[in-house]
Amino acid sequence: MHPQRRMQYLEAIGIDLWVSRRDSGARAAATVAASGSAAAPDPPPPGETAARWEALRSEVLRCTRCPLHLTRTQGVFGVGPSRADWLVIGEAPGAEEDRRGEPFVGAAGQLLDAMLRAIGLDRGTNVYIANVLKSRPPGNRDPRPEEVAACLPYLVRQIALLQPKIMLAVGRMVHRFGELNTPLVVTYHPAYLLRTPADKRKAWEDLKFARSVYQQRANAQ
Ligand code: SF4
Repeated sequence: MHPQRRMQYLEAIGIDLWVSRRDSGARAAATVAASGSAAAPDPPPPGETAARWEALRSEVLRCTRCPLHLTRTQGVFGVGPSRADWLVIGEAPGAEEDRRGEPFVGAAGQLLDAMLRAIGLDRGTNVYIANVLKSRPPGNRDPRPEEVAACLPYLVRQIALLQPKIMLAVGRMVHRFGELNTPLVVTYHPAYLLRTPADKRKAWEDLKFARSVYQQRANAQ
């Protein structure tokens, strides 16, 4: 990406360009490389991929596995291309996501999109975005362990279809993807960054770290 364009994106997400980057390595300590030793599951034949995605989406939108289906407006499946090197994982839909049926919309979604654009990613073309929970917890309360346990298999199936080369988890919840050998980098949730703009620079360091991990993997293949 052209440096000037990147600067424009960084300005748009509120990062001070003059700030020292001396602690750029520190945030690496906050990253998690999922260390599952097993190989990723084989991707389905290309002709079957679209059908499997559609079947999974339909299953999620009709799901009644946990009580959250009683209070949601609609399930929030995920958004992005059917194959993408990058997967961004959030916690659960909020009110706006529940209303519109798409993850990361509203102010936090706009900030996430701006951050992703700063490293050359776009939800319409090369990054997939999904939540761990596909239905909104009432009042935006924290997801309960039994809800995560019920819903996580859907995300695992999304990952199997997507075959991402890197995953970026935003928010407090970190999950182990022990069956997959895909790096998982953890960073701040955009909603938190809207409340705490001073930490945007740390999130930017996380994104740069994720990009470097991705490039290392891409170069090694
Ligand atoms: S949160 Fe997940 S498991 Fe619970 S009803 Fe929604 S889709 Fe089903």
